[in-house]
Amino acid sequence: MVEKAHRLIISKLYNLRTINTIRRLLFVAIIFFNIFAIMPVKAQSFITDDETESLLEKVVRPIFKAANIPFNSEKILILNDESLNAFVTDGNYLVIHSGTLINTADINELSGVLAHEAGHIAGGHIVRQKLQLDKMSALSVVSLIAAGAAAAASGRGDAAMAVMLGSQSSLFNAMNAYQMQEERSADESAVKYLAKLGQSPEGLKNFMKKTEQKNRLSGYDDFPYFRTHPLSSERINFFNQAVKNSKGTTVSPYDDEFKMVKAKISAFLLEPSRAWRLYPLQKTENDALYAHAILYYRQSDINQALQTLEKLLAKEPQNPFFHELKGQFLFESGRLPEAVESYTQALRLRNSPEIALGWAQAALEAPHDKAVLGQIINTLNKITIKEYNTVAWLLLARAYEENGQKAHALYASARYNTGLGNFEAAAKQLTQAEKNSPSPELKLKIADLKDFIGKKQKD
Ligand SMILES: [Zn+2]
Repeated sequence: MVEKAHRLIISKLYNLRTINTIRRLLFVAIIFFNIFAIMPVKAQSFITDDETESLLEKVVRPIFKAANIPFNSEKILILNDESLNAFVTDGNYLVIHSGTLINTADINELSGVLAHEAGHIAGGHIVRQKLQLDKMSALSVVSLIAAGAAAAASGRGDAAMAVMLGSQSSLFNAMNAYQMQEERSADESAVKYLAKLGQSPEGLKNFMKKTEQKNRLSGYDDFPYFRTHPLSSERINFFNQAVKNSKGTTVSPYDDEFKMVKAKISAFLLEPSRAWRLYPLQKTENDALYAHAILYYRQSDINQALQTLEKLLAKEPQNPFFHELKGQFLFESGRLPEAVESYTQALRLRNSPEIALGWAQAALEAPHDKAVLGQIINTLNKITIKEYNTVAWLLLARAYEENGQKAHALYASARYNTGLGNFEAAAKQLTQAEKNSPSPELKLKIADLKDFIGKKQKD
């Protein structure tokens, strides 16, 4: 389990939304399933990676369009969980397990899984519970988890239940006829969407077969996707027929990008020995080099990590994610000015909140003058306007402090603490902020946040 104080360090790559959820999930579980309050809960966290998310956006957007579902890239969440699973929650959050990204062979297969999930959304299989997410918290970080709980509460999100409660619950085992019907309907929709995209349903068929096989080999628990998507002979026949009738292709223009993402996720999240087996040293393709660089870095061999990454940079000097990763390696080995330089390069190639955050953090740690401090504050403010981001608020608090803007610093700290659910600490900081002559604009913000915290504390 990641402790808050360490969050900043480990969250360098997966920084923005890396959340330790045990406590909140328990809280949510108590609200919705008070009977489970004492059940053990596995540590789960969402991961954020700009490269992965931008690829998923390219894959999911057309599928959602084919399904006539409004697309919101903020609603794609990647859960750090090795099992094969993907599910949709109340509020149409699409949650994809990292294991699904690692274990799907290509974009065609991934698209098949996602099209099936889109079929559930379009079919209205998710019972829309009026959960008043904002009552639980107006902050998106907490809402995301609430969304998971909502899915569980709706009965459709059996996978979400698995996330929250471990896998022992007998609730999962009852797969009724009604759900089978929903599965069938999602399959049919998926085949239609894939046809619209010119994609073959072959990947979906393969994925279903793969999960079934793995499930037979290793027992139910590892593969919740199969538990929620049992493969009947009827479904197999349906897939076989669909593949036969399809004129779609099994290749995608994003297959190469997906290889890189798979390598990155595997190398960062799997046990290193397992990741090395997937990407042995003999392999010298780009995805293997990517994995090697990250694995060296995880083994604290920063020189090898950098040397390997340089090979990739020599091939693709315009790849922002290579520069971003280099920035991360350098930052964490204490080579701060070089890290700033790498992040600056990355930012020039891709101005995303995540890369901007990496830059701001490195620039704040590295020696800098007043002008750069101003840039750091601007950059962080822009990020916090775009999205709720605990790390950005924390860095902003430090930057304001250094800049002598006490009231702003205290407000930023309060936002940070609110995001973590530390309402008492946040309230104290706001009271302090009021005593440090805030501007009229800041005064309003302080009042709003106080209001919000007051309501939270009453709940
Ligand atoms: Zn399904």
